[in-house]
Amino acid sequence: MVEKRLQEKDCEKGYLLDGFPRTLVQAEEFSKIANRINKPIQAVVALEVGIEALEQRITGRRICPKCGAIFHMQSHPPKVEGICDECGGEIIQRKDDTLEQLQVRMEEYEKSTKPVIEFYEKQGLVRHIDASKTQSEVFALVKEALGKVAE
Ligand SMILES: [Zn+2]
Repeated sequence: MVEKRLQEKDCEKGYLLDGFPRTLVQAEEFSKIANRINKPIQAVVALEVGIEALEQRITGRRICPKCGAIFHMQSHPPKVEGICDECGGEIIQRKDDTLEQLQVRMEEYEKSTKPVIEFYEKQGLVRHIDASKTQSEVFALVKEALGKVAE
């Protein structure tokens, strides 16, 4: 499926995969495909956030189930507590935005994702980005990391 997609016209100049591959098996398989169609991976961007920042992000996150707006109790609170700025709906905390769920996701990361990063690390492809910075700073860092590839 990926192989076919990468050969479509919009991938002529390159491609960007988001959140894939997630396991070592997928990464190894994908490398074979990418090399076969002569579109090898040129860079891997690892967005990295410390555990404390992650805890803050997750426990402070609130969403509006009605319109999908996302808030954060510290960095982006609604103007009126508990009420969505966009639609006036009631904002809630998602059931899986808890420290327990974060722990589950961290274990999943150690087991599945970390070996993927190590796989690309051995090939010298990984660009580590400090994703605890603001959105625009992170964007600039990613652009810089990928700019070297595009040249
Ligand atoms: Zn809303």
